[in-house]
Amino acid sequence: MKNIAIICSGGDVSGMNPALKHFVEYSIEKGLKPFFVYHGYEGLIDNNIKEVTYKDVSGIINRGGTIIGSARSMRFKEAKYRQIAKDNLDALGIDMLVVLGGDGSFRGLDIFYQEHGIKFCGIPATIDNDINGTEYALGVDTALNIIKTSIDAIRDTASSFRRAFVVETMGRDCGYLALVSHLTSGSELCLIPEKKYDLKDYEDRFKQEIKDGRGYFIAIVSEGIKQKSSEIAEWFEKTIGIESRVTVLGHIQRGGNPTIYDRLMAYKFVAKAIDGLLNSIDSSVVCYTKKGFEYKSISEVTSQVKQLDEELLVLI
Ligand code: ADP
Repeated sequence: MKNIAIICSGGDVSGMNPALKHFVEYSIEKGLKPFFVYHGYEGLIDNNIKEVTYKDVSGIINRGGTIIGSARSMRFKEAKYRQIAKDNLDALGIDMLVVLGGDGSFRGLDIFYQEHGIKFCGIPATIDNDINGTEYALGVDTALNIIKTSIDAIRDTASSFRRAFVVETMGRDCGYLALVSHLTSGSELCLIPEKKYDLKDYEDRFKQEIKDGRGYFIAIVSEGIKQKSSEIAEWFEKTIGIESRVTVLGHIQRGGNPTIYDRLMAYKFVAKAIDGLLNSIDSSVVCYTKKGFEYKSISEVTSQVKQLDEELLVLI
């Protein structure tokens, strides 16, 4: 019987728990012995690795986060610690890994594979949706739904009280969350790193709209733009002439119970990852594209910055 382990690395996302559940079920179905590695690559080094069964994943499908923890590991960047990780895996007879994470995590495991031959398959998991080569990363849909609920709530208070609300979303240098939230929440302004803007272009229109009776504005601002959200709020107050407030959504975007879509994608990503490893695809990332699921090389996924979909970009 072959042994296989799963790890969550880097930022956690909602959808990791359904992935863990299906990892255990699908591994057993395929005649593999499943293991969990706790707390990211730290767990590989500290031998925090445990064989698991169905019992370990009961009652977790509806929970956000990850029951095995996730971490960033500085030690894994050093060859001597990767040797310890390899020795730990050898002792347990594990030579296949599934990793849920971002491009940094994939780069790390690729180095490990080159050095020690431990096969792995990456599953894109980040709410930022900034991984090149995949249209979708686990956790994005849940994050978008959390943002939607938050903006809907903000709209209730904004419409009762004449104000501009500047809502800051996560995403690092990628404006995907802000862009999709803008399009699906009907906000008045969307600022993202991928699109140059000049606030002057909105001045006349927004002032006219106030004269015409507009009572409130909602602006969705990605954390990666050059200006601070407070500066955008100040612009609303000083230039447009409406009291304003900033709401930084922050880490609530990473939590919440996984949506149906994330549960389903978790199942599909995991099955594809295990299938790939069983079919001798030794070092890859399962990507979801317009053509369906594809295995891509680490270099393809990590060498370029993801571009936003032009079809969406032209809409703002
Ligand atoms: P993400 O996977 O979300 O992009 P990070 O970039 O923080 O997150 O990477 C997660 C972990 O992957 C790091 O803490 C480190 O342990 C490992 N890693 C990243 N880059 C390397 C590298 N060049 N060599 C070895 N390990 C790495």
